Amino acid sequence: MLMPDGLDDLYQEIILDHYRHPRNKGLLADADLQAEGYNPFCGDQVRLTMDLDESGHVHKVGFDGQGCSISQASASILTKLVKGRSVDEVQGLVATVRRIMQGADMTDEQKDELGELEALEGVKKFPIRVKCALLPWTTLQDAVSEYRKTHAQ
Ligand code: ZN
Repeated sequence: MLMPDGLDDLYQEIILDHYRHPRNKGLLADADLQAEGYNPFCGDQVRLTMDLDESGHVHKVGFDGQGCSISQASASILTKLVKGRSVDEVQGLVATVRRIMQGADMTDEQKDELGELEALEGVKKFPIRVKCALLPWTTLQDAVSEYRKTHAQ
């Protein structure tokens, strides 16, 4: 299934654009943070890699994966949103996206900050698709957790 019926046209357009022209596609070699995720409900796969600069902010990010349009578009949008953020900020972002996808309404401030993520908010109406939308974000959480384990202060 390419796209759930009943999703807003504008949202569909944004999702399909990211699906067909993914941003930051391609994995980084020797990345500082990496993880991979799999969604058995849909067969979606995502691998994420990120490099930090000297001040600990994400300065390069790359992903690879396959699966439905929602999962791959979510990964593409994610790569745009994590750039320039510290590991703590990335963690906060994951928590925010989870709350939104699990039912919280986006505030105007979040809409400004998260931009195209609003397209994925429409997926909330389709519980099975929420797992697709969240896959890259749970993968991101895994990457952060793994990084923290190996870089404990
Ligand atoms: Zn999926």
